[in-house]
Amino acid sequence: MNELRCKVLVIGGGPGGYVAAIRSGQLGLDTILVEANKLGGACLNVGCIPSKALIHAADAAHGLREPRAFRALGLSVGAPKLDFARTIAWKNAIVTRLTNGVGALLKKAKVRTLLGTATIVDGKTATVTGDTGETRISAEHLVLATGSESAELPALKFGGDILSSTDALKLTEVPRSLAVVGAGYIGMELGMAFAKLGAKVTIVEALPKILPLYDSELTQPVVRRLAELGVETLVGARALSFAKGALHVAAADGKERAAPADKALVAVGRRARTSGFGLESLDLTMSGPFVHIDEKCATSMRNVWAIGDMTGEPMLAHRAMAQGEMVAEIIAGSKRAFDAKAIPAICFTDPEIVAVGLSPDAAKAAHGEVRVGHFPFRANGRAMTLQDDEGFVRITARADNHVVLGVHAVGAGVSELSAAFSLALEMGARLEDVALTIHAHPTLSEAFHESALAALGHPLHI
Ligand code: FAD
Ligand code: NAD
Repeated sequence: MNELRCKVLVIGGGPGGYVAAIRSGQLGLDTILVEANKLGGACLNVGCIPSKALIHAADAAHGLREPRAFRALGLSVGAPKLDFARTIAWKNAIVTRLTNGVGALLKKAKVRTLLGTATIVDGKTATVTGDTGETRISAEHLVLATGSESAELPALKFGGDILSSTDALKLTEVPRSLAVVGAGYIGMELGMAFAKLGAKVTIVEALPKILPLYDSELTQPVVRRLAELGVETLVGARALSFAKGALHVAAADGKERAAPADKALVAVGRRARTSGFGLESLDLTMSGPFVHIDEKCATSMRNVWAIGDMTGEPMLAHRAMAQGEMVAEIIAGSKRAFDAKAIPAICFTDPEIVAVGLSPDAAKAAHGEVRVGHFPFRANGRAMTLQDDEGFVRITARADNHVVLGVHAVGAGVSELSAAFSLALEMGARLEDVALTIHAHPTLSEAFHESALAALGHPLHI
């Protein structure tokens, strides 16, 4: 068996683990990263990036199939033809470019990368079984970043026509009909994309509304777009079984329904990956199914750290990356804690939804009286020139000192506004700070400016 020693051993090369390793290497710490599958983890290989590539392709295909918008511009196009295998090859090329990039960045930071599955021996030792045999690694610090995997339903086990999100992103043909179980992030993003690619989509959600994480005001435009796309939505419903061609569902009224389904995508959440590689032997304190961590991402064992999806919600790549960067800096001697004012959440539906900080109801519950300002995109010139003026920006601030507590938006392309919203919260901005900042014209960001003016009682363009 090969023997290696290092200061920092990172297990898992997803956004949490690879960022921890890069930063650790940059800080001069002798670092080894072990990845069982492919660098980039769920995010780059089967998550954030491939799903957004598919959404982009679906938007393009849908635009050509529904040429009303083009006609308004004086453009006409012929009947489109989709070679979906080629779409997937294009998506895969983006993934390869990014994962190769991660390998190069690790090398640049002088991180040693081992491909193989790590098994934990104790809090300072792991063995790795890979192509080059078995290696025993001893480290001063162990960073756990093993991520998560799709959760199954007992009646709908993955395999054949029952798909996880990973399977759905590998399809080389668009199914004629697709039933989606779960109207959360994955179900809504991929469900809408497949509907635009031409599948007959039915979405089955156990709770009384789609995207239960977001308030109804934000999800209304998405509900409308689902109807326009011909997507059937069964809320308050339970998926019972799948048989060739149909998903059987107990609908909200108690009646059984059969949704047409050449394939069924099950997207009912993700399960932390905390077993099967010796983690149990450390007997770490757990928070339910997740590894318990404090504000420094320290576990209950000294010099054992945990980051990313295995540590719980929100299971988002940017949270994992921020934790990874912070842990490397703490190991290198910095005094840091994870005290972000807000972790932005974006759902890449049509239209997109952005949530940063508290909703008006949550803000009221936490801080008492609040001021809320809305600005609709139908009064925003840039939205009109982009032919999509659905949605709004909503700002929520304390009534007493006007400190911004939350900014939410729904609309085409609003994901790119999330940085401005997060910065406002992180800098402790007041409504007046946003109102006195000059926002470039014509941009969607003017709706953010106007939402602050509206909360102060004097919007200009409505
Ligand atoms: P992971 O990315 O899961 O990486 C963990 C890595 O550890 C894996 O590569 C795995 O192979 C490796 N590993 C596990 N066990 C071992 C072991 N014993 N030895 C060696 N290696 C091991 N988040 C967003 O912020 N925005 C999005 O738009 C978004 N879209 C998504 C779309 C989909 C379809 C999915 C599934 C997820 C999406 N996410 C998104 C969530 C995001 O992918 C995760 O939050 C993120 O990948 C978590 O990073 P991580 O480093 O904690 O774990
Ligand atoms: P999710 O938690 O977002 O949604 C799961 C949905 O399934 C919920 O609405 C839930 O009520 C429903 N559900 C649960 N059991 C059900 C059942 N038996 N029948 C019908 N509905 C049921 O989970 P997800 O969509 O699988 O995504 C997993 C995680 O991946 C998310 O929590 C998110 O953190 C991450 N993700 C993020 C993005 C993004 O940031 N844009 C995109 C995709 C995934």
